[in-house]
Amino acid sequence: MTSLCVKDLIDFAVRALDEVPDEFSAQALRAASTQALLDASESVSRQFAARTFNLCAIVNAKSGRCTENCAWCAQSRHFQTRIEQYPLIDPAKTLEAARKAKQRGCSRFSLVTGGRKLSLREVREAAELVRAIRRETNLEACISAGLLNEKEFRILAQAGAVRCHCNLEAAESVFEKFCSTHSFADKVKTLEAARRAGLQICSGGIIGLGESEADRVSLALALRRLEVPSIPINILSPIAGTALADQPLLDDEAILRAVALFRLINPRAQLRFAGGRARLSQSVQLAAMKAGINSAIAGDMLTTAGTDVEADKKLAAKAGYRFEDDDALAFDRAHLWHPYASAANPPAVEMVESAHDARIVLADGRELIDGISSWWCASFGHRHPDIVKAVIEQAQKMPHVMFAGLTHEKAVELGRRLLELAPKGLEKIFYADSGSVAVEAAMKMALQYQRAASCPDRTGFMTLAAGYHGDTWNAMSVCDPEGGMHALFSGLMQKRFFVPSPSSRFDGEFDERDAAVLEAYFEKHGAQCAAFILEPIVQAAGAMRFYHPQYLKHARRLCSEYGVLLVLDEIATGFGRTGRTFACDWAQVTPDIMTVGKALTGGVMTLSAVLTTNAVADAVSSAPPRAFMHGPTFMANPLACAAACAALDVYAGRDWLKEVSRIQAKLRAALAPFAGRAGVRDVRVCGAIGVVETEREMSAARLQPEFVKRGVWIRPIGRLLYLMPPFVVSDAELDVLTSAFAEVLEEFLASDPENSL
Ligand code: PMP
Repeated sequence: MTSLCVKDLIDFAVRALDEVPDEFSAQALRAASTQALLDASESVSRQFAARTFNLCAIVNAKSGRCTENCAWCAQSRHFQTRIEQYPLIDPAKTLEAARKAKQRGCSRFSLVTGGRKLSLREVREAAELVRAIRRETNLEACISAGLLNEKEFRILAQAGAVRCHCNLEAAESVFEKFCSTHSFADKVKTLEAARRAGLQICSGGIIGLGESEADRVSLALALRRLEVPSIPINILSPIAGTALADQPLLDDEAILRAVALFRLINPRAQLRFAGGRARLSQSVQLAAMKAGINSAIAGDMLTTAGTDVEADKKLAAKAGYRFEDDDALAFDRAHLWHPYASAANPPAVEMVESAHDARIVLADGRELIDGISSWWCASFGHRHPDIVKAVIEQAQKMPHVMFAGLTHEKAVELGRRLLELAPKGLEKIFYADSGSVAVEAAMKMALQYQRAASCPDRTGFMTLAAGYHGDTWNAMSVCDPEGGMHALFSGLMQKRFFVPSPSSRFDGEFDERDAAVLEAYFEKHGAQCAAFILEPIVQAAGAMRFYHPQYLKHARRLCSEYGVLLVLDEIATGFGRTGRTFACDWAQVTPDIMTVGKALTGGVMTLSAVLTTNAVADAVSSAPPRAFMHGPTFMANPLACAAACAALDVYAGRDWLKEVSRIQAKLRAALAPFAGRAGVRDVRVCGAIGVVETEREMSAARLQPEFVKRGVWIRPIGRLLYLMPPFVVSDAELDVLTSAFAEVLEEFLASDPENSL
């Protein structure tokens, strides 16, 4: 083997970020000098591994009497050792240990049990311990409970455990030498079962058993293949009475080389100092941290002495690490619940420092091009100076006053501007504070209208399948009940009449059958309905489908014929997104009620509005209680109204529809090659929205790092990968967005469905 320089070693690690290295090139790393390995692994750690030092405390939750014969272990009943024996520990003791761990600054707490595996009864007891830990301490709960199956892991995951620990221990080729009561394959099977149950995995091994350096490389590779995010490295401390009692101690250099090799092969993993490090000098521990150890099991180990947490922290700080106690991301992970996300096992989030134009600037200085306008609201670019100025000026005067009995200049000014833009016939405006609340208000308005119009039995709503209108109760009731985001609740909500989504494409011919289907629904249900609520032209979050404007004309006609109000939800489409100011402008229809939000403030403040006709407003106001019964505390918030006034100035001050058609042309060209591809159901573009619908669901959490790596911010919704950039996006930025989109989509389409991106 030729010797390798630091650059070769770093190049190897960079490749290992995305591809599992082959055995031959991984073994070749051993030819490098110790100094080269340490220098390279330090550089790789700094670039790719977490710089926040993670501490996990463990409690020995069940000890002794183990049937297994692992050669190093004092808990095995095959050896004569002096070890405390006890069944699963009681909750009080566990909690005491967990609280202590929390005080010392640990963020994880692991219940470690001896034995081949816990029985089902013990799994249930352990689940109760996990529940108690989560209830009392908020520590992330891990469990090491032997060779459990998926069903057993699910019980623990349901209780709030996030991670299963199960060490591979040693390379497959030598495993049998150290243990014959179970196999390496049993361990892998266990980790895979844990993963299927929704747990993360933590798995490492013991060095110094008598294995060779080549065996350590094989172990590190096996862990890389399994994409293990947390890798404990134990150093054998021979224990009297065990089969390895007389094993000579591994020397410092071999230990440091092992850490470096593990880091180069697993560039992103948390390498966790575990048992056996207490005997190392401070300078060797420091060198190991520099080489890649960025986490530790804190406090006492299971069968060997541990180290002092404070000493660990001092040393890690010296090696350049931060700590979770003062790390914002760690607090976020521990306490902040993100949208549509698990709180127990939160998906990774990026820390944002600022945003401007089409850019999101991360705390570490990287810039991402925002491909989805931060959920479609920052249409005119982030931090638009005119909007920011208006908000600051308003804040200095009056951030908020209630809107009952009071009014203010910005509410009036915004009203004037909105009516100038809105379809003719809309005359009254009700301000609300978010899109969903606007939808709630619109639905209540329709019900009050029908009651006032002497049709109190018209309490139903018609809506489109595949639609989306928000997250609050009534808004959810008109979201798609099966494939939609709120399918979970569909049985609990009031039943709505779901009309099949029109099949006539926006850019195709209108198929009269769509009108016939709609008419049939009106015939059947029209008389019971207060309103027909739908997203005009673009069914956004539910489907990213674009339908023909003619359909809206039919909807208008039928609503009028059947005495049903037409409610158009323009929250996603308003202010230019489809190439017209409002999507309903494509059909030149005026709804009875229209909701707007999102881009209304240029994405700067949360604000929505419900616009309606005099006919509706007069009717609502004519019958007892002669008032519209809705009034959020923050309605017409002056800061939000000031932002919206400025945003509508910005909207009026430039030919944005020209920008939208520029974006449309580029999206069409960039996405067209995906049409007809295997795995792709459809490709469509409408205004500044481009969509590729795939056959398989994508995982936003798994795709996110792929996009971030390419300097863009894109998030799929289920089978929909889409772009909805701010209109200020430049051609060059669009090129970056569309190439990243295409690359990641290619990778997704080529990936194995069982283990896809
Ligand atoms: N209606 C539509 C059409 C939407 O797209 C959304 C948001 N995606 C909402 C309502 C809900 O708005 P918000 O998230 O502001 O409550």
